[in-house]
This record gives sequence, structure tokens and C-alpha cells, in this order.
Amino acid sequence: MLFDIATLELHPIEFDTSFVPGELNFSGSGWIQQGRLDATGVVELLEPAGSRTIRVCGTIATKMQSTCARCLELVEIDLEEEIRLLYFSMSTDADVQKHEVAGDQVDMGFYEEPGPELVDVLQEQVMLLLPMRSVCKDECKGICEQCGINRNEEKCDCVSILSDSRWDMLRKFKLKIKHQ
Ligand SMILES: [Zn+2]
Ligand SMILES: [Zn+2]
Repeated sequence: MLFDIATLELHPIEFDTSFVPGELNFSGSGWIQQGRLDATGVVELLEPAGSRTIRVCGTIATKMQSTCARCLELVEIDLEEEIRLLYFSMSTDADVQKHEVAGDQVDMGFYEEPGPELVDVLQEQVMLLLPMRSVCKDECKGICEQCGINRNEEKCDCVSILSDSRWDMLRKFKLKIKHQ
């Protein structure tokens, strides 16, 4: 679905749609979409005659899944958020853009004419909402560097001697062996 400028100059465009996993691309985020992603909202030109800035307002809802960076258990989060985005035309001059968003805390993006695609808007929005680092819980104790147990579930008497980076190397080494 394209939000093209020529149409937006005439009237706002509404959307109310869903995407199944695979239709949107979240590669590189470390997260995968679980189940449907629902998105509704309205897209309009901020100033029809002026800067060609597009405002997207709406809601987005889905479940995302990843693995805990410390203990490797599955982590699932429910995303249910309001979308408040401003999109600037690549061809608009930067001073106009700064002036427009002064004092307004919203996310921003850029589009190439004829206008942004809904899938790109949603992909960007989800990426912005995802936590940088996935952990199952803040106090996750992770995996024991030596015996490999999940320290959230069991206790061990190992004394930590390996630094984190050496543990990473060892883990890579183990993966290699597994793959052979
Ligand atoms: Zn964890
Ligand atoms: Zn241990």
C-alpha cells in the first residue's frame, strides 16, 4: 500500500490491515514476528502546499519473539503501541523540517517520492519499538560459563574464571564442533 503524495494532497488515506509473519522484514533485529501484525491508522499531509511532510497516526499490535542474550531461553513481547511518525520528503530542505518538528517528540523518517509504502513504515516503527537487547528478565542470571546450567533454574558451585570474551570464543568453538 503506497501513501502517494498526489492522493494525500486531495485527502487523507486510512489503513486497517494485517500482515502474517514473513510479509514484513525484521531481519537484523534479532526478533521474529509471532502471529499476525495488525495496523490501523490515518496518513495525511501536514501542510498540503508546503513541505510535503507526511504524518502517520495509528496503532500497531503484534507479538515478537527472540532469545535471551544471557540464558538463551525464548523471550516474547507483546507490542501494542501508538504510531506517531513524521515522514519527510528526501527532496525537502532540512531547515523546513527542523522548524516543523521543534518541540514535538515524535519519530521521524524519510521517504522518496511518490511516497512511503505502508510495509516500510511498519517495519521502521516496529524496529524502533523493539528493545536493543533481549533479556528474559532484568535479573536474569544467565548460563554458567563452566558447567552450562541455566543459573535461573539451578545453582552450581563453579567459580568464575573465564572472562566474557573468552567464554564467547569457547562458545563459538563448541558450535563449530557441533556443526562438523
Ligand atoms: Zn535469560
Ligand atoms: Zn556451573
